Amino acid sequence: MHWVRWDQVIAPLEYGGLGIGGLQAFNQALTLKWVWRFVKYPDSKWAKIIRALYGEKAGLDGNILRGSSVWCSIVKLFYKVKSGGVIPNNILRVKIGNGRNTRFWVDNWKRDGTLKDKYKRIYHLKRNKNCTIADRFVNIEWKWEWVREHISTRNSSMLSSLMTDLYGIACNDDNDAWEWSICDDGYYKVNQTRSFIDNSYLHDAKINTRWCKLIPRKVNIFAWRVMLNRLPTHLNLSTMGMVLDHLSCVLCGCHSESISHVLFECPIAQEL
Ligand SMILES: [Zn+2]
Repeated sequence: MHWVRWDQVIAPLEYGGLGIGGLQAFNQALTLKWVWRFVKYPDSKWAKIIRALYGEKAGLDGNILRGSSVWCSIVKLFYKVKSGGVIPNNILRVKIGNGRNTRFWVDNWKRDGTLKDKYKRIYHLKRNKNCTIADRFVNIEWKWEWVREHISTRNSSMLSSLMTDLYGIACNDDNDAWEWSICDDGYYKVNQTRSFIDNSYLHDAKINTRWCKLIPRKVNIFAWRVMLNRLPTHLNLSTMGMVLDHLSCVLCGCHSESISHVLFECPIAQEL
């Protein structure tokens, strides 16, 4: 007999669970780590092999990879959890340094998504769509190269919005660095990613599990079951469909055996 739903058992303490965590989230967090390693360590041998097989961005720039290889599965999972809202769309973002390795329009270096998506109309007017930030930011000024000499009023007002958006951005001498936005310091951590994924999947009972580290685990779990009213009292067994001779308390025999009676109200239990 199952007393508590499994997805509630493994849910975080703040969701009313026991904080065990799900295997699915663990598996996905470990799989997504390969995406992180690919962008973070582009010079590693395996990353070079992946690029040789699947192109410079290896499917991470939105171009769908066809195939059933391990890398294809990893990229598919990455997009699946992003499109499903399990992880944020801009989970991988660039912390700008010298701007030489970050594509101005295509890469996610601003916190609210790529500029290509935000300023679609003027993106299509650009000559070099894969230009880097360093190409555009020259001598502390933003430089543009359009396919047409004059741009329309509507497009120039969009350009003004873009300039406002870029206000205050400056490059420095450091290299551009990738960040995993849901982790504290921007560096990928399996535990934090797993918890983040779990929080989006698991049942939220809207209650907080109280967990005291000073008392044994089994006592904490007992208190948790009391809080959820999931102990095998006569009343609960009967609610679960079990046929019993009677519902009375086995100690006093006067009242039906509920959790509140057994633990707090039963006169014989109180004497003990
Ligand atoms: Zn009793």
